[in-house]
Amino acid sequence: MDLTDHLLNPAFRTLFAQTRDAVMIAEARNCRILEANPRALELLEYTLEQLRECSLTDLSPNQHLAIMQSFIRNAGEHSSSLTTRLLSRSGIPLPCELSLQPLTDASGLLLITFEDLSERIRAMEDIELRNVAIANVSSGVTIADARQPDLPLIYVNQGFQKITGYSAREAVGRSCRFLQGEDRDQPALDDLRKALRLGEDCIVQLRNYRKDGTLFHNELHISPVHNEAGELTHFVGIQLDVTEQVKARESLERSEQRYRQALEREQELNEIKTRFISMVSHEFRTPMTGIQASASLIRKFGDRLDEEKKQRHLENIASSLKRMNRLLDDVLFFSRAEAGKLKINRKPINLDPYFHQLIEGFSMVFPDRKILLFSEVPPARAYLLDEHLLDHIFQNLISNALKYSENGTPIHCAYRETEQDLVFSVRDFGIGIPQPDQLKLFEAFHRAGNVGARQGTGLGLNIALRAIELLDGSITFSSKENEGSTFLVRLPIKKANQDPHEENSHS
Ligand code: ADP
Repeated sequence: MDLTDHLLNPAFRTLFAQTRDAVMIAEARNCRILEANPRALELLEYTLEQLRECSLTDLSPNQHLAIMQSFIRNAGEHSSSLTTRLLSRSGIPLPCELSLQPLTDASGLLLITFEDLSERIRAMEDIELRNVAIANVSSGVTIADARQPDLPLIYVNQGFQKITGYSAREAVGRSCRFLQGEDRDQPALDDLRKALRLGEDCIVQLRNYRKDGTLFHNELHISPVHNEAGELTHFVGIQLDVTEQVKARESLERSEQRYRQALEREQELNEIKTRFISMVSHEFRTPMTGIQASASLIRKFGDRLDEEKKQRHLENIASSLKRMNRLLDDVLFFSRAEAGKLKINRKPINLDPYFHQLIEGFSMVFPDRKILLFSEVPPARAYLLDEHLLDHIFQNLISNALKYSENGTPIHCAYRETEQDLVFSVRDFGIGIPQPDQLKLFEAFHRAGNVGARQGTGLGLNIALRAIELLDGSITFSSKENEGSTFLVRLPIKKANQDPHEENSHS
């Protein structure tokens, strides 16, 4: 059978013309091309006439020629194939899978088929490019098998290894859960679990731990992958190490908070300043007016006033001055406390003489009032205390007890020792403190709603509290309206024979 016989065979002709493979027939002896089907002509961009002028080796680029020649030489009786390139008429090398097969033993004809590999190579190059890209991005990329229990990782890129410190060998085969370590109490994990269960996308931020145990914040993007049948097969995870951003945000939030606090403090200080000015001008004006009135009466009518009246005016001047003095003392203490400039100066103090003297001072100003003292400490015992601070505490508590109770009711002052503390109490049977005011009692300038015309600045308890805190103590109170109040002060015991801590400065 020669070539014409073959081509006359209608089945062969149809196959030859219509197959999607490129097919050529050549003389086996010299590989000169005799026939080519339309697909071969299309790929090689030749006409049949032009192609008939060529042999298979003419279509081989120079660098592939030797291989092609040896391939042709060795092509035996059976089909053999070679991945090579054929030159198209315009000189473009066409990657192809080339097969040679003798048509029949006797014909001396060779069937050449070739398949264009350009598309396949392009697709493989694409995949290769993507693989390189995925492997080299700095973010972590992982693939987990959704068809296996616990979603084991089947791929981790270099970015993942760099972020976590785990090598691919250490990570592959495990569930990504190992990155949480013991830190399981994270609300974001619920979102992640839900998305994995439902096979949905999700973005969560997790606290994860590197191989060396250090924390990093992982912004994890999860996407499900489905096969053509729509079955969930994989999850692709992208890990971004957002530790720096989280730290920056936290530090921003901290400075915002500091700024807000500073602003609030500033507003508080302004408020205190305003209240302070109005309090001082009001509280100073009253005794000053008293002094002015008594002094001008004595000046104008001194010679006509009897001795008793004169004495009353002089006493009025003295007590007004005393009041102004105390007020000044309070104001100074308060402003030094605000400026953080208070100092503590402990010295041995024997409490009995201290309180007797204090109460005597009050009795001179309030001769009609009874202040009872109950002491349960050994009379000779001395404690390391700061007398000036004690004055600020007990002057204020006792004068309040007197001020906010009626003439004829007693004041009880008591002190005792517990294992660690000195406990002092000042009790009165007066107007008491209304419930709503109790919470704000120690705030500067706060006065309860039931004080009526009783004079005051609202500074005394705040000053007492600051003095108590300087001595590392605490103050509490219990009170009922119209029944009275008890203030309880606890100061830690430092006995005089203990090692005194000299002059601690407080800020
Ligand atoms: P003030 O100069 O007004 O007495 P304080 O700071 O000493 O200021 O006291 C704050 C407020 O606490 C008082 O105005 C008063 O309403 C209430 N208070 C303090 N001590 C007593 C007390 N023993 N009985 C009733 N109310 C008291």
